[in-house]
Amino acid sequence: MLEKLYIVIPCYNEEEMLPITAKALLEKMQDLVSEEKIHPDSKVMFVDDGSKDKTWEIITKLYGAIPYFTGVKLSRNKGHQNALLAGMNTAVKYADIIISMDADLQDDINAIDGFLEKRAQGCEIVYGVRSSRDKDTQFKRGTARGYYKLLSKMGVEITYDHADYRLMSKKAVLALAQFKEVNLFLRGLVPMVGFKSDTVKYVRNERQAGESKYPLKKMISFAIEGITSLSIKPIRFITFLGFFIFFVSIIMLIRFLITWAIGNTVPGWSTIVISIWAIGGLQLLSIGVIGEYIGKIYLEAKARPKYIIETNLEEEGE
Ligand code: UDP
Ligand code: MG
Repeated sequence: MLEKLYIVIPCYNEEEMLPITAKALLEKMQDLVSEEKIHPDSKVMFVDDGSKDKTWEIITKLYGAIPYFTGVKLSRNKGHQNALLAGMNTAVKYADIIISMDADLQDDINAIDGFLEKRAQGCEIVYGVRSSRDKDTQFKRGTARGYYKLLSKMGVEITYDHADYRLMSKKAVLALAQFKEVNLFLRGLVPMVGFKSDTVKYVRNERQAGESKYPLKKMISFAIEGITSLSIKPIRFITFLGFFIFFVSIIMLIRFLITWAIGNTVPGWSTIVISIWAIGGLQLLSIGVIGEYIGKIYLEAKARPKYIIETNLEEEGE
């Protein structure tokens, strides 16, 4: 039996990109259906993440014109991760398998064939992995590499060079939906789901139109989210730091007592001032890190909805 595929695509202000993406995906869907790799009722589901431009207009037009397209509109902008989850949780009602990808065609759509092959071999999750990062800037490449290393040091299990381009079966998406956390970092959560999984390599392209919706500021907060939502090592590190500084202060005390006993009472003004600054700084830093976690606990305790769906074209006119 052929499986019904839904491709979920979060879109935020993508009016320039959408027509290009839709055209490429339409061809791909037609190919996949005629090659009998997927069920003819498979669809591309665009998730409008509260865009301010014509994105939703384009989506509804595509939906009206071509049966391969459908869409979901969120009540406001909730960010890439939430939009993606909203789309997956909606699509899972209709689909057997779900592929998530970006709207900008940076992820090579021909990798889908590879995803489907792995699926045929019984995988519940297939991760798209970039085989090279030539198209990224030196800066992005360097920071990304360092970041993956840092994450694995922190004990976060993550697939190297995998963005959110992946295939998940209905079973895997339903399992993921059981994770109730509000602070979302999907690429760290999905591996926790388990099941048989594999990777498919692809070459990442440049964004073809429009500009990145991930400015540096968003990237940094996403990076911090990745660590603090999945690892408590930073807090543990602070505890060790506390012990270490206490140890140092005891040595200082002994040293002070010795100098005092010898009678060499040179006023250690600079030593004192430096320690005050150093310890004060460390304390502020530590409180900041702990505050970061308390903030997370606060949000998790509230358990606010991660997204609110305004319109689901799949349920219109039924
Ligand atoms: N995106 C979204 N909500 C946001 C920001 C981005 O749904 O608040 C979508 C965006 O439309 C795109 C994907 O997330 O489909 C990835 O964004 P982008 O390509 O701008 O990020 P980059 O590839 O530069 O990291
Ligand atoms: Mg992109």
